[in-house]
Amino acid sequence: MINTDVAVIGGGPAGLSAAIAAADMGAHVTIIDRNHELGGQLLKQTHMFFGSREEYASTRGFDIANILKEELKERSVEVLLNTTAVGYYKDDGVWALEEGEDKFVKLKAKKTIVATGAMERHLLFPNNDLPGIYGAGAVQTLMNQYGVMPGKKVLMVGAGNIGLIVSYQLLQAGVEVSAIIDAAPAIGGYLVHASKVRRQGVPILTSYTVKRAYGNEVLEGATIVKVDEGFRQIPGTEIDMDIDTMCIAVGLNPLVELLWQAGCKMRYIPQLGGHVPVKDEDYETTVKGIYVAGDAAEIEEATSAMVEGRLAGLNAAHAIGFDNGNYAREKDNALKRLNALRSGPVGAKIRNGLLKLAEEAV
Ligand SMILES: Cc1cc2nc3c(=O)[nH]c(=O)nc-3n(C[C@H](O)[C@H](O)[C@H](O)COP(=O)(O)OP(=O)(O)OC[C@H]3O[C@@H](n4cnc5c(N)ncnc54)[C@H](O)[C@@H]3O)c2cc1C
Repeated sequence: MINTDVAVIGGGPAGLSAAIAAADMGAHVTIIDRNHELGGQLLKQTHMFFGSREEYASTRGFDIANILKEELKERSVEVLLNTTAVGYYKDDGVWALEEGEDKFVKLKAKKTIVATGAMERHLLFPNNDLPGIYGAGAVQTLMNQYGVMPGKKVLMVGAGNIGLIVSYQLLQAGVEVSAIIDAAPAIGGYLVHASKVRRQGVPILTSYTVKRAYGNEVLEGATIVKVDEGFRQIPGTEIDMDIDTMCIAVGLNPLVELLWQAGCKMRYIPQLGGHVPVKDEDYETTVKGIYVAGDAAEIEEATSAMVEGRLAGLNAAHAIGFDNGNYAREKDNALKRLNALRSGPVGAKIRNGLLKLAEEAV
């Protein structure tokens, strides 16, 4: 049995920031990640971030991961890699961890922060399981982490920020992006990203979806079709695409199975990405001692995930009784940064979602 003050499940930007903050308060911290490396989504992000200097603006995602990992090394945080949290025993508050493929260990923590991130959504259409059809995250991992091109001619499904950014990265790797389609009537991502791919001659077709994919053993092509304002397919508008790769970037869902299992109260809030845990202002869920941060709390961005992680780490350590004298100031500073990140029209969706969650929490 491993005993610790604060366990952090997930070593992405939220989890790393949580671990650093809790360790700074004086807590013994154990961070667990199922991957062989800490960093979460940041590891595959080669583009530079937006935002302010405090949130590492103009720094590439994988460099941010390296900065956070260096900060973690300077603190005595226990790191468990290749280790997946697979269950929670409610009666005695013990987490079940699977180390590698066949070793199970128990972990008991005074407080736990769940920072497991998100999973990609898929789309329903005939033959959607043909090899050659990927989630955008998988394509990023192949290209940016392992240097493997996913194919030669790609159809990107989804014109949100992820679809646009991954399309640009595909172009940079020398892959042809035949088109970007989106069922919505307008481009969902930032126009700065859309302009970059358009300048390379990639058409962005809004109000289009995938009718079907085809191929014998692997993807050989797809038919796309226009949809009306009710997302119904319009017969006669089909276009055949000669592609060998399809990349699905139609959104993310919070990865919250562990929270369901622990009995946390959950609510369905579309603006936050689906089912999300009810939490208080300290990021504690309705199960005492279990905190949440980052994409597992709501689908947002790495910058806000880092600040939320920081808040959850400070609060979890403080609730045990740790304080290096800076708790109140650090918490106040983080709350101000989070509010600033969520201000203006870009933050409206998240603000509305959080309001709805607060209303439905009772
Ligand atoms: C293509 C793309 C571009 C993006 N660009 C930007 C950008 O420019 N700026 C920005 O701010 N954000 C950006 N984001 C969003 C950002 O990457 C995420 O919001 C952020 O990574 C969320 O951080 P997180 O720590 O919550 O989750 P993640 O980064 O997903 O980390 C979760 C970690 O938990 C681990 N884990 C999951 N389940 C378990 C388990 N059961 N046991 C142990 N470990 C587990 C995973 O291995 C992973 O390491 C982008 C995302 C994508 C996909």
